[in-house]
Amino acid sequence: MLRVGLTGGIGSGKSTVARLLAERGAMIIDADKLAREVLEPGTEGLAEVVKAFGEDVLNADGTLNRAALAAKAFATEEARQTLNGITHPRIGRLTAERMAAAPEDGIVVHDIPLLVERDMAAAYHLVIVVYADAETRLRRLVTSRGMDEDDARQRIAAQATDEQRRAVADVWLDNSGEVPDVTGLWDRLVGFEKNVRTQTYASGRP
Ligand code: ATP
Repeated sequence: MLRVGLTGGIGSGKSTVARLLAERGAMIIDADKLAREVLEPGTEGLAEVVKAFGEDVLNADGTLNRAALAAKAFATEEARQTLNGITHPRIGRLTAERMAAAPEDGIVVHDIPLLVERDMAAAYHLVIVVYADAETRLRRLVTSRGMDEDDARQRIAAQATDEQRRAVADVWLDNSGEVPDVTGLWDRLVGFEKNVRTQTYASGRP
């Protein structure tokens, strides 16, 4: 089984690339999706959040009010750490579970926006960075996703830099223009997976 980390700045095209790799046969683990899963109604995670931050982080129907939680959790560094202390271990366990469930000869792609910020590169056989220049990302976030421009700028500025991502990239996919063709990349991943499984992979990266 090959563990691939897929990252990139907000709006760079990670989900787009993940979808293309899924079409080829990759199993995708979406970190943002797991982060929502651990706080779904009825979970221990949500109960812990309510205990720490109060009932007013819930909507009337018992689901999490994300804006209310964000207002409280990002107010202080301590509150942020409290929330991370609840969510991170649970997301980690769920990720490990999903990885373990992959077929022996599978290619698992972990779509994880904060791979660089969390210093996670060593957890993967290979790291793919999806790149689009900041202006292009801004335009896509504002036009395709309807995000407020100032909000988008702030989010881009708060993330790791392109240089930091370049430092961990085994594969650099430029998605500033047309969506890249992943045929060659997929063939490389298939070959690398076979090497990893048959132990001919000694050290280093392709
Ligand atoms: P996020 O960090 O918010 O999860 P992401 O990195 O997963 O974003 P996508 O959701 O794949 O990025 O792409 C952001 C937006 O840009 C989407 O609306 C997508 O359809 C569009 N997009 C992605 N790649 C291209 C491209 N090459 N050309 C034009 N639009 C694109």
